[in-house]
Parts: sequence; structure tokens; C-alpha cells
Amino acid sequence: MSIQEETSKRRTFAIISHPDAGKTTLTETLLLFGNLIRSAGTVKGKKSGKFATSDWMEIEKQRGISVTSSVMNFPYKGLQVNILDTPGHEDFSEDTYRTLTAVDSVVMIIDATKGIEAQTKKLFKVCRMRGIPIFTFINKLDREGREPFDLLEEIEELLDIETYPMNWPVGMGKRFQGIFDRDGNQFVHYSGNEQETFIPYDELKKPEYEELVSSDEFKTAQDEVALLDEAGDQFSIDQVLKGEQTPVFFGSALAPFGVQTFFDTFISMAPPPAPRKTTEGVVQPGNPDFSGFIFKIQANMNPQHRDRVAFLRVCSGKFERGISVKLARTGKTINLSQSQQFVASSRDNIEEAYAGDIIGIYDPNVYRIGDTLLEGKELFEYDELPQFPPEQYKRVTAKNVMKSKQFKKGIEQLVQEGAIQLFKKYKTESYILGAVGELQFDVFKYRMQNEYNSEVLLEPIGERVPRWLNEEKVNTALFDERNMLVQDREGNNVVLFKNDFALRWFQDNHPDVELIDLYEVN
Ligand code: GDP
Repeated sequence: MSIQEETSKRRTFAIISHPDAGKTTLTETLLLFGNLIRSAGTVKGKKSGKFATSDWMEIEKQRGISVTSSVMNFPYKGLQVNILDTPGHEDFSEDTYRTLTAVDSVVMIIDATKGIEAQTKKLFKVCRMRGIPIFTFINKLDREGREPFDLLEEIEELLDIETYPMNWPVGMGKRFQGIFDRDGNQFVHYSGNEQETFIPYDELKKPEYEELVSSDEFKTAQDEVALLDEAGDQFSIDQVLKGEQTPVFFGSALAPFGVQTFFDTFISMAPPPAPRKTTEGVVQPGNPDFSGFIFKIQANMNPQHRDRVAFLRVCSGKFERGISVKLARTGKTINLSQSQQFVASSRDNIEEAYAGDIIGIYDPNVYRIGDTLLEGKELFEYDELPQFPPEQYKRVTAKNVMKSKQFKKGIEQLVQEGAIQLFKKYKTESYILGAVGELQFDVFKYRMQNEYNSEVLLEPIGERVPRWLNEEKVNTALFDERNMLVQDREGNNVVLFKNDFALRWFQDNHPDVELIDLYEVN
């Protein structure tokens, strides 16, 4: 098969949601479709004590959560499906965000009983910024939840995106009877016990369905669908692919109900790998020369081997084991002899991969997050990965001052991995760490101890609002613990303001000091 054909079969996506919305449950059901697991409940056993093989690190076992972004892949209906797992805990990290740079579409799960929650909103914003197509699955219809219209309105208002319900539920909770599949012109009947019956609209006249169609829930839903057909937004695949309209599916990941219909429709609409921007223009996925970028580096996934693995998203050409590539940043040639593909159950050696695939390559400590690897004569780099503002800050010190060498080495390496951001108090050796979520600190502390034998003390200094100073000369008298003056890794001066209020107060009182928001999203 040609590179072009292989590439066009790839569907690479991530599932985003607020914790407990049902991401794990939905992923399990999808893996069942791919025959990757025998029975649901093995991906992540919070309660059963079984742990997903995608949960690599010890800390994940201890907390029963998935810290690292892993990748699952399986063939489905002639396509090759790649699901990137995003850490789903409340304490999520930059890795979660960065994973979104490696996918071509996203499934957003919303808990029908709760609506849009904080983390969904944050993740959505990143997708929006990057114009990634977003498909919405409204979950837990088997419970009494909020009214469908109400949920759609909330998505439109809070997320500022047009919605198009691909299906429409009949009742909910105990009264839940199924969904109108608007796309497939059929009613999907739910009769409990994991049973779904597909009834074409014109067969609903049959006497055996009389009880169903005469129920109040059915009639109400029928009226609502008629209303949608008449007055609702038009479906537009163009808008969907631009990330301006989201197809919405109702269902239950647990029952499971509506998942098959959802997945089939989603997979038929989700885009294959798209051309990507580089410093030297756009690169087509079907381009014969291999290229890709590293979006994540993970150290010591297997405690027996003190290895680092770099996760690379293939963007063009064909990867074959042992190919020679160039690291664009340095121009150096590297032979990729050790590579792995990640399936939920194992880390298999892979022989070939195409645009859209994620491969893990052995990292002898040479890669950085955002690095481009490529074949061909011309050197170019894929668009820089965005940095996301740390929201939590902590002062970090070594418990044992005699071990400052290990301490410094550990911090250097973990910061280089991009797991956490480092600042130093102005002109001192006092370290401040910034992270998107609390979990990153736990992981940092754990790894410092286990990998660098350095016990650390972390002292919270609260949420902060970072602003970079334009001038090199600083009037240090303007700053204190509340508005803390620090320097980033490059030695740039940064102020960590206590909160938005402190920031505004400072701006009002010192209009001459130029403050730069490096993370501004336009
Ligand atoms: P995650 O944190 O997003 O991965 O969520 P989980 O998949 O772990 O689900 C959180 C909880 O919600 C678990 O107790 C699931 O059994 C439950 N859950 C998930 N999907 C459904 C559903 O469709 N209906 C109901 N009633 N519960 C669900």
C-alpha cells in the first residue's frame, strides 16, 4: 500500500473530559470494538485493584490514576484508529495539553447530570485555539440528567461553538428508551441488558412498536426532533472540520448504549492527518520523506531499565525501524533502531508507521519536547508547541543540604523534560516551581526521590499570575513576597503576582513598567 493510502486510513484522536465524566468507561468500550480487551473493566481498575497497562508508573498505581499519556491503537472497519490517552485526573498537567497537539480530532465527553465542568472548558479552549474538530458525547443518559436542549444551550454559550445533535434521546434515567439516530434515519431502541435494536423509521409503524411509539417520552422526543429539523442549525461538515460546529451524540458509556452508533459516525467524519505548518512551509502527510515531532518525553517508564522514551507524532512519510533521521535542532544524524508502538497491553517493537501514528523512540538524553526529526535534505521544524501558564507555584528545597548535587541534577533533567517549570528567586539560588496542576508536584517529588535519590520539600506559595518584565534593569523595591520577582530558566525577569487584583493594582500604580503575558491567547 502506498504512503498516501496508509496515511488516509489513520484516525488519531484524544478523549477529553472532566474527571468522572466517563472517559475510562468509554475508552474501554471502544477497545472492546477493537477486540483489544476481552471484557470491559481492565483498562483502569480504580476499584478492582487492577491497573491498566497504560498506567506505567508506580505513582499511578498508588493513586489509581493515569499520569502519563499513553496510546492505544487498533484496526477498525478498514481504518487504523489511534487513541491518545490524556491524563484525566483533576490535577492534570501540561502533558494533557500537549497531547492535543498530536491529534487530528477530539471527543469531548460531558456528563449529562453535570453539564460543562471546569477541566472540559480548559481543554476545549486549547482545541479551539488549534482549530481541532470536536465531537461531543453526552454521557450517562441512563441516569436522570439535565434536559437535552438545556445541555446544548450550555455548550453553545459557555464554549461558543455551534452544536448539531446527531441523535436525540427518548427519555432518560429509568424512562430512557433509546435515541433517534438522525444521521442513520433509524430509532435505536434500548431495552436494557446491553441490548440495542435498530429500527428504521418506516418500521416504527409495526404493531410490535405500538407501546413504544405511544409513550409520552417518545412523542415528546419526536416533536423535539421535528423542531430541530425545522429550526435547528444545518449540519455542515466544513464547519465541523474547522472546529466551528460540534456534532453531539447522546448515550451511555456504561450501559453501553449509543456508543456503537456514535463511534461509527464519528470515525466516518473524523479527518485523517492534515498537512502541518513548519518553518519552511506546509508539509503534506503523504510526502515520501519521514518527519515528525516529539510532544512528550517520559523517563523510566520501566523501573528495570532507566530509559527515557520520547513520544513522536509522525507527520509525513514512512517510518521504518532503523531509519536514519536528522534532529532538526542540531542537524545531527540519528539512527532510530529502538522504537516502540504503544498498545494498551504492551510496548511492541514496530516495523513501520505513517502520518498520524505515535511512536515511542528510545531517548539517550538528546531530545527535547518540540523537537523535529526528519529525513530528506532540507531541515525544517514543526510549529513550536505552545506553553501553558503554570497556575500553581511551590518553593522547592533539598531536605538534605549535603545532597545538593543530586538535587540540582534531578531538577535540571525533569525541567528539561518539560514536566514542570522552573524559576529562581531574583539573583538567588532559591527555586520556585510552577505547574499546571497539583499532580505534577507529586510526580516531581516522587521522581526526585526515586530516580535522583533526592528528598525534596515543597512549600506552596499559592496560585500566581506570571508576567514577564520587558527591561533588564529592574527596580527591585517594587516587589515583595506578594508580587514576587523571579527569573525563568533563560534568566528573564518575571513577576509572580499574587492574583489578578494584585496585578491590576500594580498596573494602575506603575503604568511605566511594561508587563508581558507570554501565554496570551488571541
Ligand atoms: P473518568 O474519570 O472520566 O475516566 O470516568 P470513569 O469512566 O472512571 O467513570 C466515572 C464513574 O462514572 C464510574 O463510576 C463509572 O462507572 C460511571 N459511569 C461512566 N459512564 C457512565 C454511564 O454511562 N452511566 C452511569 N450511570 N455511570 C457511568
